[in-house]
Amino acid sequence: MTAHIYAVCYLIAAGSFILALKWMSSPATARPGVLIGQAGMLLAVIGTLLRQEVVDFPLVLGGLALGAAIGAPLAYLMPMTAVPQLTALSHAFGALAAALVGTAEYYHHTPHGFTMFAIALEVLLGFLTFTASLMAFGKLQELLPGRPITYAGQNFVNIAILAGGVVCALMLISDPSRSGIFPAFAALSMLFGISLIAPIGGADMPTVIAFLNATAGLAAAALGFALDNKLLIVAGALEGASGLILSIVMCRAMNRSFANVLFGAFGTIQTSAAQGEQKPVRSASAEEAASILDAARSVIVIPGYGMAVAQAQHKLREMHDLLSKRGVEVKFAIHPVAGRMPGHMNVLLAEADIPYDKLVEMEDINGDFPMCDVALVIGANDVVNPAARNDPKSPIAGMPILDADRARTVMVIKRGMSPGFAGIDNELYYMDKTLMLFGDAKSFVANIVKELGAAAHA
Ligand code: NDP
Repeated sequence: MTAHIYAVCYLIAAGSFILALKWMSSPATARPGVLIGQAGMLLAVIGTLLRQEVVDFPLVLGGLALGAAIGAPLAYLMPMTAVPQLTALSHAFGALAAALVGTAEYYHHTPHGFTMFAIALEVLLGFLTFTASLMAFGKLQELLPGRPITYAGQNFVNIAILAGGVVCALMLISDPSRSGIFPAFAALSMLFGISLIAPIGGADMPTVIAFLNATAGLAAAALGFALDNKLLIVAGALEGASGLILSIVMCRAMNRSFANVLFGAFGTIQTSAAQGEQKPVRSASAEEAASILDAARSVIVIPGYGMAVAQAQHKLREMHDLLSKRGVEVKFAIHPVAGRMPGHMNVLLAEADIPYDKLVEMEDINGDFPMCDVALVIGANDVVNPAARNDPKSPIAGMPILDADRARTVMVIKRGMSPGFAGIDNELYYMDKTLMLFGDAKSFVANIVKELGAAAHA
């Protein structure tokens, strides 16, 4: 009877994981997607507890309490801009759990054949994902230097460490009783995680985290084989595949190859171009910006990383409401890698209750720019840099961009002339039709809102 109940729990849980992934792909259904995923996970835990013949419940409850005591404050206290760090930490903990279960299985049961193969694979992936995710967290949180750490012969050293780990794994698979090798195997796996991430720049971490999602998923799937737990295989495979797809989508949107992200030490070129000669720009006040917006028929807002840093989304919503009331058509152009994580802009704009149908993806909105009166760039830089189109030598050459430069007037809110993630100057700022609106995104938009409000009451 219990056997049937756990099987049903697993079946429903697997179905809800698939639905969760499907629903999370659209902002309109993302919230129920998260809920059904959580419900599925709860069922999976219940099913697993029912399936085990001997379960030490006090220990399970103790672990649950400890995990919740760490996880809940982390989730509540981390600001939205720190979600990549939070994701890195949860991958680190998940991968460590998988690696430790694999280690316990090895020492308890000394498995053989295919099970030993699955455990070796899982321990390798689990430990390397653990240290790599901690490194990614450290770089994003600026606890570690964000710049790539490189030295001569690095790739050779990295390959040697990985080869050492693989040799240990093969020795364990051929003779699982050689338990003395296991600590060296675990240590080499952890060392490889560190050496893999060291040469990658901090700003590439979100892409790396998506990749680590894939390795953590594969570790879980391998553990599923080792423990003969089919749900773990399904969940791990889903996580692995979605992580891999996400990292590929992110690389494509930046026009970079996956190998370039992992081995290209992107970020070492920072700011050199930005320090070139000072070219003149035209700037304007909030009052002038408000009157230009008021006179426009169509406005396309392009949010970027600076909007997220400033948390300007709520003020943006007020601006959207005021302009819409006065008959101005306002749309939001979403670049797939605007900000620092996939869906960053969608999440923030949805949080401010900006209607979903006002959010338009890059391919669908680029054709509208030539007909649009004002392109209002808010804390975005690389995603509107025409160098991607015009300069084949640019580090972002070939990256698809939002065609803000094709609008009749361009206004850019940012604090100064600093470059964005790619560390390069932006010719958009020096065009005759561009007005720079210098200031913090939130306070500048607040001032525009004030001016628009004052004009409405005048
Ligand atoms: P950028 O990083 O290119 O530029 C952000 C701009 O925001 C800066 O130029 C900065 O200028 C400005 N800014 C910062 N703080 C504020 C503030 N408080 N108020 C106003 N402006 C501010 O951002 P984009 O969104 O255009 O591009 C994202 C970049 O990140 C792309 O290169 C992408 O490839 C990369 N990336 C994205 C990932 C993703 O998943 N989304 C993952 C990995 C990388 P100033 O200092 O002068 O104010």
